[in-house]
Amino acid sequence: MKKRIMLTMLIGVLLCLIFVCQKAGEYLGQGIRAGREASGTVKREDNLVVLDPGHGGKDPGKVAVNGVEEKDINLKIALFTKEYLEAEGVDVVMTRAEDERLADTQVGDLKQRVSLMNSQNPVLAVSIHQNSYHEESVRGAQVFYYADSEEGKAAAECLQKALAELDPDNTKQIKANNTYYLLKKTEVPVVIAECGFLSNSEEARKLVTEEYQRATAGAVAEGVLQYIRSVGAGAQGHRK
Ligand SMILES: [Zn+2]
Repeated sequence: MKKRIMLTMLIGVLLCLIFVCQKAGEYLGQGIRAGREASGTVKREDNLVVLDPGHGGKDPGKVAVNGVEEKDINLKIALFTKEYLEAEGVDVVMTRAEDERLADTQVGDLKQRVSLMNSQNPVLAVSIHQNSYHEESVRGAQVFYYADSEEGKAAAECLQKALAELDPDNTKQIKANNTYYLLKKTEVPVVIAECGFLSNSEEARKLVTEEYQRATAGAVAEGVLQYIRSVGAGAQGHRK
């Protein structure tokens, strides 16, 4: 009789232990998952920038008043920007480094660019374009960001400030947008730098010269570096 009571008590104690261990395990597991998710949402490759020269291949983008195609200017500026950023110790990945389109359709091309930006997980992605308007007098670089992104807005401010120094007459401000595919679908901080107006003859003339392409690239690189420093990552701090 005594033995049976002892046995029942022992089983009871064991069952209690198993229950307590299970609960503790679940609790710990939840803590670990929560920690991972929290860090996963903000952790970026903090010394990596993706540069995206707009258009390419059979998609020329805007065509300037002087006949030059946007895709070529975008690529030149992006390649010079890459050179300057790498000289400062920043790693750069390009969505394209040649005159090519990344898919057969425009939508497919944009999807490829977005997917590359998301998979690289850079601290910032910069898409480089040139603007156009039906009024010839409109000019000046302007930077766009996704309306819901604080990081994108901060980066846009850094780039706009640097680009404005190229042209004392440029009064353009950063602009929020929530409809551009690239801004909407990219999950990392992204800006679109419209470096000038191809519909303005003076800007179009300048944008085809290597001198001005390099000056523009220098401003884009400076803006990117300012942003990287402001988020406390990359270049200076992380160089080994
Ligand atoms: Zn464009």
